[in-house]
Amino acid sequence: MRFDVMTLFPEMITSITDASILGRAQKSKIISVNVHNIRNFTKDKHRKVDDTPYGGGMGMLMSVQPVVDCFNSFKDSLPVNKRVIYLSPKGSVFNHEKAIELSKYDSLVFLCGHYEGIDKRIETLIIDEQISIGDFVLTGGELPALTIIDSVSRLIPGVLPDSVCYEDESIASGLLEYPQYTKPAQYYNLKVPEVLLGGNHEDIRKWRRRSSLEETLTHRPDLLAKAELTKEDILYLETLNQQ
Ligand code: SAM
Repeated sequence: MRFDVMTLFPEMITSITDASILGRAQKSKIISVNVHNIRNFTKDKHRKVDDTPYGGGMGMLMSVQPVVDCFNSFKDSLPVNKRVIYLSPKGSVFNHEKAIELSKYDSLVFLCGHYEGIDKRIETLIIDEQISIGDFVLTGGELPALTIIDSVSRLIPGVLPDSVCYEDESIASGLLEYPQYTKPAQYYNLKVPEVLLGGNHEDIRKWRRRSSLEETLTHRPDLLAKAELTKEDILYLETLNQQ
């Protein structure tokens, strides 16, 4: 999977994408992250990339020329199966289903806005879709772009050691994940549940499923309406609801 990020702050992107799991995935050539500094494409003699909005109003808008020229500098090298995304609070809100959908493209291009946003003509000329990462406003599109790159990368075979790593997790499984523990078995008076120490796989499976249902009922009951539940799950939820 190829990612391209158009930004005024390239170091914000590379500081995250060069580290940890994403850094390793790039070294193994499972993903590539190309960062394009929009400022390098401005034709303004003072290297300006923004201007005041027509009609007045607060703040500055990113200008059309540097962004479109930046995109044109690499667009011919992109695979056909690509998506150009503008990170914006106006977009549809990102979630796990969207991450799965995006992971099927060969290439994702991100435009990170800044200041008051971008000239509308940029959208018309180069953007396929707008995505928001939630109903709040950030100072720029870099954190949203990184959020999407990170969550999509985890779905690409080879980035994580085993697909079970994500299939079993909160949200991806339809429920929230069960609580997990590591050594020591006791920390002051807090003990790891006995069943996890016993090595009986069926008992552990049951305990995890029930704990998963409990976590979901407590923290995200809305997920239960869409989750695939067995008869046993439903009975267990009924006993929890009666408590
Ligand atoms: N004036 C814009 C509006 O009201 O829609 C908000 C601009 S915001 C201060 C600056 C940039 O941050 C945006 O162009 C966008 O790229 C990014 N941004 C802010 N909040 C975001 C969110 N929730 N999701 C995705 N991108 C966001």
